[in-house]
Amino acid sequence: MGSTLLINCARKMFKKLVCSLGLALFLLSLFLIGCSDQHQKRMLRFKKWVEPNGKLKVLSTTGMIDDLVRRIGQDHIDTIVLIEGELDPHSYQLVKGDDEKLAHADIIFYNGLGLEHGPSLHSYLANHRQAIPLGDQLDKQFKNQVIYVNGQKDPHIWMDISLWSKTVPILVQTLSSSDPTHVKEYEKNGLVLLEEMANTDRLVKETMHKVPQESRFLVTSHDAFNYFARAYLSEPGEVESGDWVKRFTAPEGLAPESQLSVTHIKEIIEHLKKYQIKQIFPESNVSRDSIRKIVNAGKEQGLDVQIACCALYGDAMGPEGSEGDSYLKMLLYNAKILSENMK
Ligand SMILES: [Zn+2]
Repeated sequence: MGSTLLINCARKMFKKLVCSLGLALFLLSLFLIGCSDQHQKRMLRFKKWVEPNGKLKVLSTTGMIDDLVRRIGQDHIDTIVLIEGELDPHSYQLVKGDDEKLAHADIIFYNGLGLEHGPSLHSYLANHRQAIPLGDQLDKQFKNQVIYVNGQKDPHIWMDISLWSKTVPILVQTLSSSDPTHVKEYEKNGLVLLEEMANTDRLVKETMHKVPQESRFLVTSHDAFNYFARAYLSEPGEVESGDWVKRFTAPEGLAPESQLSVTHIKEIIEHLKKYQIKQIFPESNVSRDSIRKIVNAGKEQGLDVQIACCALYGDAMGPEGSEGDSYLKMLLYNAKILSENMK
C-alpha cells in the first residue's frame, strides 16, 4: 500500500516537473524567436542602409537624434541608429558589426556632453572627423543652458523640447553642407519640425501645469529628468532662483549603475518626506532595483510610498507601435502619465 502511494506521488511530481520544464522551454523558445526576429530586422535595416544609391548615409547614436535627422532629411538621406532599442546609451560599447556601420557613415551625429561614455565608443567618436557632438555644440552656442550635476555636465538635453530644438539648425546646416542640392528641402523640413516642436513644448508645459504645484515633484530611477523638471515642472521664478532643483531627484546618478549607498537612500527618503512624494516612477530601460530599495526602506519608516503604475521614457524611446515610438510622442507620453498619476 505504502509503496503504491509513493509511486503515485512520484508519478505526479514527475508530471508536474515535465509540465514546468515544457512551459519553461516554450517561453525560452518564444524569447529566442523574438530575439532572432529583432536581429534579422536589424540586419535587413543595415543591408538597406549600406546599399550604394547616392544618398547621404547618416548614423546617429540614439533614437532621439535619428528621429530629428529623419524628419529633416526625409527621402534624401538614409539613416541608421547605433544604440538601438532599450540599450543604455551611457555604457554602450562597440559590438561586432558596429565598426562597419561607423566606417560607412558620411555623417555621425552623437549626443555628447559625456552621454556616450562607454570607452570603445567614446574613443571612436572623439577621434572621428565626421562625428558631430550636438550637445557640446549647443553648449558652446548657448551659455548657461546645460545643467551641471555634482560638477558634471548633464547629457539628457532631449528631455527639454525647446532646448533639443536648438539642435535642428545644426542638423540642417550639416546635411546642407554635405548635400547642397537639397538645401531648400532641408531648410523647409527643419522649419516645419521646429514649429511642431514648439507646439509640443507648449502642450507638455500646459499638461504638467494641470498638476497642482505642491504635487509637481518627480522621483525616477536615474538622473534623466533634470531638464524636464526645469522646463516643465518648475513654477515661475524657480528657474532664475535655481529652486527648480527641488522638483526632481533620483537614487541613481547621471548614468544608471544600481549601486546605492545608505547615505543616498537616507537623502532620497528625506526628500520624499519633505515634499510628501508618494510615488517613484520607473524608467523603461533601467532596472527597478534601486527604486525597490527606496520604497522598502521608506515603508520600514512608515512612509506611504510606492512604485508608480507606469514606466517613463528616459534614455530611450519606446518600441515601434508603442505610445513612445517617436521623440515627440515619448515626451507627450511622459507628460500624460505624470499628469494622470502625480498626487
Ligand atoms: Zn541617462
